[in-house]
Amino acid sequence: MDQKLGRIEIAVGPMFSGKSEWLVSKLRVHQVAKDKILAIRHALDNRYHKEDITSHNDSSFQAQAVKDVAEIKKIIQDLGEIEVLGIDEMQFFETNLADLLLELQKKGVIIYGAGLDLDFAGEPWETTAKIMSFADKVEKLVAVCSVCHLVNATRTQRLTNNSTTADKILVGGKESYTARCVLHHEVIRNK
Ligand code: ADP
Ligand code: MG
Repeated sequence: MDQKLGRIEIAVGPMFSGKSEWLVSKLRVHQVAKDKILAIRHALDNRYHKEDITSHNDSSFQAQAVKDVAEIKKIIQDLGEIEVLGIDEMQFFETNLADLLLELQKKGVIIYGAGLDLDFAGEPWETTAKIMSFADKVEKLVAVCSVCHLVNATRTQRLTNNSTTADKILVGGKESYTARCVLHHEVIRNK
Protein backbone atom coordinates (compact mmCIF):
# COMPACT_ATOMS: atom_id res chain seq x y z
CA MET A 1 0.00 0.00 0.00
CA ASP A 2 1.27 3.44 -0.90
CA GLN A 3 0.32 5.26 2.31
CA LYS A 4 1.73 8.80 2.58
CA LEU A 5 3.05 10.10 5.91
CA GLY A 6 1.65 13.43 7.10
CA ARG A 7 3.49 15.91 9.31
CA ILE A 8 3.06 17.99 12.42
CA GLU A 9 4.19 21.62 12.27
CA ILE A 10 3.53 23.97 15.15
CA ALA A 11 4.10 27.58 16.18
CA VAL A 12 4.43 28.40 19.86
CA GLY A 13 5.15 31.55 21.82
CA PRO A 14 3.51 34.16 24.06
CA MET A 15 0.32 36.06 23.35
CA PHE A 16 0.65 38.58 20.48
CA SER A 17 3.58 36.71 18.89
CA GLY A 18 1.64 35.98 15.69
CA LYS A 19 0.67 32.33 16.25
CA SER A 20 -2.87 32.71 14.91
CA GLU A 21 -1.60 34.77 11.96
CA TRP A 22 0.92 31.99 11.21
CA LEU A 23 -1.83 29.40 11.37
CA VAL A 24 -4.19 31.38 9.13
CA SER A 25 -1.45 31.87 6.51
CA LYS A 26 -0.58 28.13 6.49
CA LEU A 27 -4.25 27.19 6.04
CA ARG A 28 -4.82 29.80 3.31
CA VAL A 29 -2.18 28.14 1.11
CA HIS A 30 -3.95 24.78 1.44
CA GLN A 31 -7.24 26.50 0.64
CA VAL A 32 -5.71 27.66 -2.67
CA ALA A 33 -4.64 24.04 -3.27
CA LYS A 34 -8.27 23.01 -2.65
CA ASP A 35 -7.26 20.54 0.05
CA LYS A 36 -9.88 19.21 2.42
CA ILE A 37 -9.23 21.31 5.52
CA LEU A 38 -10.61 21.11 9.03
CA ALA A 39 -9.82 24.16 11.16
CA ILE A 40 -10.62 24.12 14.83
CA ARG A 41 -10.06 26.16 17.91
CA HIS A 42 -11.01 25.74 21.53
CA ALA A 43 -14.48 26.89 22.56
CA LEU A 44 -12.99 28.49 25.70
CA ASP A 45 -11.46 31.22 23.57
CA ASN A 46 -14.51 33.43 23.04
CA ARG A 47 -12.61 36.67 22.59
CA TYR A 48 -13.59 37.34 18.99
CA HIS A 49 -15.81 35.57 16.52
CA LYS A 50 -17.73 32.62 17.96
CA GLU A 51 -16.22 30.13 15.51
CA ASP A 52 -13.35 31.38 13.34
CA ILE A 53 -9.64 31.35 14.12
CA THR A 54 -8.93 35.07 14.52
CA SER A 55 -5.68 36.93 15.15
CA HIS A 56 -5.07 40.19 17.00
CA ASN A 57 -4.43 41.56 13.54
CA ASP A 58 -7.94 40.60 12.40
CA SER A 59 -6.88 37.93 9.91
CA SER A 60 -9.23 34.99 10.19
CA PHE A 61 -10.06 31.54 8.87
CA GLN A 62 -13.38 29.74 9.06
CA ALA A 63 -13.21 27.21 11.89
CA GLN A 64 -15.25 25.18 14.32
CA ALA A 65 -15.10 25.86 18.04
CA VAL A 66 -14.81 22.60 19.97
CA LYS A 67 -14.70 21.79 23.67
CA ASP A 68 -12.46 18.71 23.89
CA VAL A 69 -10.47 16.02 22.05
CA ALA A 70 -13.46 13.65 21.88
CA GLU A 71 -15.37 16.29 19.93
CA ILE A 72 -12.48 16.70 17.46
CA LYS A 73 -12.50 12.91 16.91
CA LYS A 74 -16.23 12.96 16.27
CA ILE A 75 -16.02 15.82 13.75
CA ILE A 76 -13.26 14.00 11.84
CA GLN A 77 -15.27 10.78 11.89
CA ASP A 78 -18.32 12.59 10.51
CA LEU A 79 -16.26 14.32 7.79
CA GLY A 80 -14.78 11.04 6.59
CA GLU A 81 -11.36 12.05 5.34
CA ILE A 82 -9.39 15.26 5.87
CA GLU A 83 -6.08 16.27 4.31
CA VAL A 84 -5.17 19.22 6.50
CA LEU A 85 -5.92 19.95 10.15
CA GLY A 86 -5.39 23.37 11.70
CA ILE A 87 -5.76 23.81 15.42
CA ASP A 88 -5.46 27.00 17.44
CA GLU A 89 -5.06 27.38 21.22
CA MET A 90 -3.73 23.82 21.54
CA GLN A 91 -2.88 24.40 25.20
CA PHE A 92 -6.54 24.36 26.23
CA PHE A 93 -7.06 20.76 25.07
CA GLU A 94 -6.27 17.61 27.06
CA THR A 95 -2.81 16.06 26.65
CA ASN A 96 -4.20 13.23 24.52
CA LEU A 97 -4.52 15.79 21.71
CA ALA A 98 -0.86 14.90 21.03
CA ASP A 99 -1.78 11.22 20.56
CA LEU A 100 -4.62 12.12 18.20
CA LEU A 101 -2.31 14.30 16.10
CA LEU A 102 0.22 11.48 15.84
CA GLU A 103 -2.51 9.07 14.77
CA LEU A 104 -3.69 11.52 12.09
CA GLN A 105 -0.12 12.13 10.90
CA LYS A 106 0.22 8.38 10.33
CA LYS A 107 -2.92 8.55 8.18
CA GLY A 108 -1.29 11.20 5.98
CA VAL A 109 -2.82 14.35 7.48
CA ILE A 110 -0.77 17.57 7.41
CA ILE A 111 -1.24 19.22 10.78
CA TYR A 112 -0.63 22.85 11.75
CA GLY A 113 -0.96 23.74 15.41
CA ALA A 114 -0.60 26.98 17.35
CA GLY A 115 -0.54 27.49 21.07
CA LEU A 116 1.01 29.00 24.14
CA ASP A 117 4.14 27.16 25.27
CA LEU A 118 4.16 28.85 28.70
CA ASP A 119 1.40 30.03 31.03
CA PHE A 120 1.25 33.45 32.71
CA ALA A 121 3.58 32.21 35.43
CA GLY A 122 6.18 31.09 32.88
CA GLU A 123 5.45 27.39 33.42
CA PRO A 124 4.93 24.95 30.51
CA TRP A 125 1.47 24.09 29.25
CA GLU A 126 1.46 20.32 29.36
CA THR A 127 -0.43 19.72 26.10
CA THR A 128 1.78 22.08 24.09
CA ALA A 129 4.91 20.54 25.65
CA LYS A 130 3.84 17.05 24.54
CA ILE A 131 2.97 18.20 21.02
CA MET A 132 6.31 20.05 20.78
CA SER A 133 8.03 16.72 21.46
CA PHE A 134 6.03 14.92 18.78
CA ALA A 135 6.22 17.68 16.15
CA ASP A 136 8.35 17.51 13.01
CA LYS A 137 8.83 21.26 13.06
CA VAL A 138 8.50 23.78 15.91
CA GLU A 139 8.65 27.53 15.33
CA LYS A 140 9.13 29.64 18.42
CA LEU A 141 7.67 33.07 17.78
CA VAL A 142 8.38 36.25 19.75
CA ALA A 143 6.40 39.43 20.39
CA VAL A 144 7.44 42.96 21.27
CA CYS A 145 8.19 43.37 24.98
CA SER A 146 5.91 46.03 26.46
CA VAL A 147 8.71 47.29 28.74
CA CYS A 148 11.92 47.35 26.65
CA HIS A 149 10.15 47.46 23.25
CA LEU A 150 12.51 44.90 21.75
CA VAL A 151 11.35 41.96 19.65
CA ASN A 152 12.32 39.49 22.34
CA ALA A 153 9.13 38.75 24.29
CA THR A 154 8.75 35.06 25.05
CA ARG A 155 6.46 35.47 28.07
CA THR A 156 2.80 36.37 28.57
CA GLN A 157 2.36 38.95 31.35
CA ARG A 158 -0.96 38.85 33.17
CA LEU A 159 -1.85 42.42 34.11
CA THR A 160 -4.24 41.64 36.94
CA ASN A 161 -4.38 38.73 39.33
CA ASN A 162 -0.91 37.50 38.40
CA SER A 163 -0.23 35.54 41.54
CA THR A 164 0.76 31.89 41.10
CA THR A 165 -2.21 30.88 43.25
CA ALA A 166 -4.62 32.45 40.71
CA ASP A 167 -6.38 30.30 38.08
CA LYS A 168 -4.15 29.16 35.24
CA ILE A 169 -6.89 29.88 32.71
CA LEU A 170 -8.25 33.41 32.43
CA VAL A 171 -9.40 34.14 28.90
CA GLY A 172 -8.66 37.71 27.91
CA GLY A 173 -7.02 40.04 25.40
CA LYS A 174 -5.08 43.30 25.63
CA GLU A 175 -6.99 44.37 28.73
CA SER A 176 -5.67 41.37 30.68
CA TYR A 177 -2.35 40.45 29.06
CA THR A 178 0.74 41.89 27.45
CA ALA A 179 3.94 40.36 26.07
CA ARG A 180 7.21 40.63 28.00
CA CYS A 181 10.77 39.41 27.63
CA VAL A 182 12.12 37.10 30.28
CA LEU A 183 13.85 40.00 32.09
CA HIS A 184 10.67 42.04 32.42
CA HIS A 185 8.17 39.26 33.06
CA GLU A 186 6.81 39.51 36.61
CA VAL A 187 4.75 37.03 38.62
CA ILE A 188 3.74 37.19 42.26
CA ARG A 189 5.03 33.88 43.58
CA ASN A 190 2.86 32.64 46.45
CA LYS A 191 3.75 29.39 48.12
P1 ADP B 1 -1.11 35.25 18.92
O1 ADP B 1 -2.04 34.28 18.25
O2 ADP B 1 0.29 34.72 19.08
O3 ADP B 1 -1.67 35.80 20.19
P2 ADP B 1 -1.89 36.98 16.76
O4 ADP B 1 -1.53 36.27 15.49
O5 ADP B 1 -3.32 36.93 17.19
O6 ADP B 1 -0.93 36.48 17.93
O7 ADP B 1 -1.53 38.53 16.66
C1 ADP B 1 -0.30 39.02 16.21
C2 ADP B 1 -0.49 40.53 15.96
O8 ADP B 1 -0.73 41.18 17.19
C3 ADP B 1 0.70 41.24 15.39
O9 ADP B 1 0.78 41.15 13.99
C4 ADP B 1 0.46 42.69 15.81
O10 ADP B 1 -0.38 43.35 14.88
C5 ADP B 1 -0.36 42.54 17.09
N1 ADP B 1 0.35 42.88 18.34
C6 ADP B 1 -0.22 43.48 19.40
N2 ADP B 1 0.65 43.57 20.43
C7 ADP B 1 1.82 43.05 20.01
C8 ADP B 1 3.13 42.86 20.61
N3 ADP B 1 3.39 43.24 21.85
N4 ADP B 1 4.09 42.26 19.87
C9 ADP B 1 3.83 41.87 18.60
N5 ADP B 1 2.64 42.03 17.99
C10 ADP B 1 1.64 42.62 18.66
MG1 MG C 1 -3.83 33.42 18.85
